[in-house]
Amino acid sequence: KESTSALFFIGMDEMSDKTDTDWTTVAVAVGATAVASYCVFKAFSSSFAPSEHRSSSPPPLVLASGEGVDVSAAVRAPKNHSSSGSISWTNVTLTQITPYTEDVSEFVFSLPEEMEITLPVGRHVMVKADVNGHPTSRPYTPIDDAGIPLKKISLVLRAYEYGKMSSKIHSMSIGDCLLLRGPIGRYKFDPSQKARVFLYGGTGVTPIYQVLKHALKDGECESKCFVFSQSRSFDDLLLAQTMVDLQSQYPSFLSLSFHLSRLTPEKIEKNLSSLFSPASSSPLPTGCSLNSGYVTSEHIEASLTAHSLLDLVAEGKVEFLICGPSGFTKYVKQQLLFIKCPKEMVYVF
Ligand SMILES: Cc1cc2nc3c(=O)[nH]c(=O)nc-3n(C[C@H](O)[C@H](O)[C@H](O)COP(=O)(O)OP(=O)(O)OC[C@H]3O[C@@H](n4cnc5c(N)ncnc54)[C@H](O)[C@@H]3O)c2cc1C
Repeated sequence: KESTSALFFIGMDEMSDKTDTDWTTVAVAVGATAVASYCVFKAFSSSFAPSEHRSSSPPPLVLASGEGVDVSAAVRAPKNHSSSGSISWTNVTLTQITPYTEDVSEFVFSLPEEMEITLPVGRHVMVKADVNGHPTSRPYTPIDDAGIPLKKISLVLRAYEYGKMSSKIHSMSIGDCLLLRGPIGRYKFDPSQKARVFLYGGTGVTPIYQVLKHALKDGECESKCFVFSQSRSFDDLLLAQTMVDLQSQYPSFLSLSFHLSRLTPEKIEKNLSSLFSPASSSPLPTGCSLNSGYVTSEHIEASLTAHSLLDLVAEGKVEFLICGPSGFTKYVKQQLLFIKCPKEMVYVF
């Protein structure tokens, strides 16, 4: 029974990576998992299991050491490990909170002593906590540098009014704990790409920022990067100044385009001076633009054409990376069809 429920939880975690869930497939998968794990359990316990594994007692219960957040009720964690840079469910402690806006903050979680996690570029972690008596897990992409061992994980999170995990984390205090495992994901960075087009909405900025930083800092990688950010208003823009700073650092490799769906061009013009680097006389450097409305295929086409890169799209030499809510992802994929982007060149986080 234990092994069945453990496998079910793993299945649920992986499913939450996907936007659309095929519940028929899920039902079949859960049924098959239950039967398979029962058979494995029977065979294992009757003939091969060493004596200490035959015990019917459950694996150790991991308790939250901090105050206020109870992850103990329905969450069990197996022994974790970090020799390969990955960790299984591990209790991590909230050590720092930095508010960005009213509903967005950065949360830094420390791993237990002697433990480290290494995130290949573009990979995320799963976070699990008890929410109203139910073990709940969600994926988050840390904004820390990829490829180096980390003892702390920094997550930038927006709080959604009815969001289970985001509300939970936003209600945590320093010293509180939750469970974390990773890295997870299948994105593989290909340094041979001639150009990269990044399209994100809202908190979708986090995996985009991670890959972008890597692409720009990789000494051997000379590809051009085009970032299209979609949000409703100024308040929804996340890590905007960080992105602008990155653009100033790599002006010939990065072009940045912010699209604000709820703002008129007049309103954008009026607020521009107070948005980025208020002390600077020129708030937006060349290579950055602020636009009213939605990002369209015309915007993408114009940017690629300006750098004589449009022809490379159909040849499969331009990579497109998307991260955002499912409606945004669907819309952007449609836009990419207009510029004849091959499906295999599109990666959705
Ligand atoms: C690979 C990957 C990486 C991610 N990285 C981050 C990250 O770094 N930071 C981050 O904040 N999020 C990130 N997300 C999104 C995150 O996993 C959760 O979906 C998000 O925190 C909402 O979860 P929740 O439990 O609070 O909301 P849920 O309980 O799942 O949703 C409840 C309600 O919240 C609202 N809501 C939830 N999500 C959205 C949304 N995207 N837009 C508008 N309303 C919404 C809706 O009203 C929804 O009905 C990432 C997602 C993926 C797939």
